[in-house]
Amino acid sequence: MHYRYTFEKGSKKHQCPQCSRKTLVRYVDNETSEYLPMEFGRCDREKSCRYWKKPNGKYTNTIKIEVTPPAPISFHPLELVKHSGRNFKHNNLIQFLKTYFDDDKIKKVILKYLIGTSKLWNGATVFWQIDNKQKVRHGKIMLYNPHTGKRSKNRDGKAYISSVRSALKQHNFNLQQCLFGLHLINEIETQIVAVVEGEKTAVIMSLFKPEYVWLATGSKQAFKYEMLKPLRKFKVIAFPDKSEYSDWQDKALELKKIGFDISISNYLEDTIYSDGTDLADVYIDLLTLKKDSIEVRESHTGMILTKEEQIANKLLNINPSLGKLISIFELTDCNNNLIREKAS
Ligand SMILES: [Zn+2]
Repeated sequence: MHYRYTFEKGSKKHQCPQCSRKTLVRYVDNETSEYLPMEFGRCDREKSCRYWKKPNGKYTNTIKIEVTPPAPISFHPLELVKHSGRNFKHNNLIQFLKTYFDDDKIKKVILKYLIGTSKLWNGATVFWQIDNKQKVRHGKIMLYNPHTGKRSKNRDGKAYISSVRSALKQHNFNLQQCLFGLHLINEIETQIVAVVEGEKTAVIMSLFKPEYVWLATGSKQAFKYEMLKPLRKFKVIAFPDKSEYSDWQDKALELKKIGFDISISNYLEDTIYSDGTDLADVYIDLLTLKKDSIEVRESHTGMILTKEEQIANKLLNINPSLGKLISIFELTDCNNNLIREKAS
């Protein structure tokens, strides 16, 4: 913040219009570096003369707030992404996926999201945030347990999370995040985008439901205009983690007012799954059930249940809305309009 007209710097004095001594400090126009007329100034003889005429009229001082232009967004070179795309034997998330999906599918999903491996921690995964102009904005490094697929935590119970910029000590990196998977929106034909919170969720759902483009906000707070802006022309269905429905729904209502076509699925809210459960957890859970070789007998009849029956039971008894969700997906694979009506 600064004034346009200020006292001349230095010790130069001029003749005072009141006492005629050479004691007047004049005002200078900082934009032109020129003096204001002689009348504007202050006499140094504060006790005896007290002449002081501040700039007024056409010289009235206005406060100027200096606007510093926003620093340009920093990007990582694509080379870094390429370089990270290796060593998947030491990538816990990829190893976890191998228990459920075949290598071909996993290879495809690695290439789709350009998933990387980091040496920051043994087994760590890099999720690159590449925007719709193919610029690399962020590399999030996370560590998963290769057996459970859950986030690994240290002794203090904190999850391992870092970034490529801190691993490379790029302290001046001007981070401006985008949706994980945003680079895929230029390629899609259906114009329907599914948004979830976690990067891992997006990757896994893309394996289960490759016909949709799955993007991740990276955090629940990142479900907001700045991040979702590039999706304005798409039909968006968001699947918040359990217990986050109302927050996302509030945001969606705001966004609808400014022209977004966005709906929030509330199916997880109705399930008995614990808070924080995401769509992929549920799909993996079902898959585990399918693979399970444990013999299950129905309690009141003693009948041995087939796997299909076990799944049906689980859906029916503990998770009634899950059946709904699956039928939503099955129904809508051939009719994209349905999914919009069903997701509230
Ligand atoms: Zn004077």
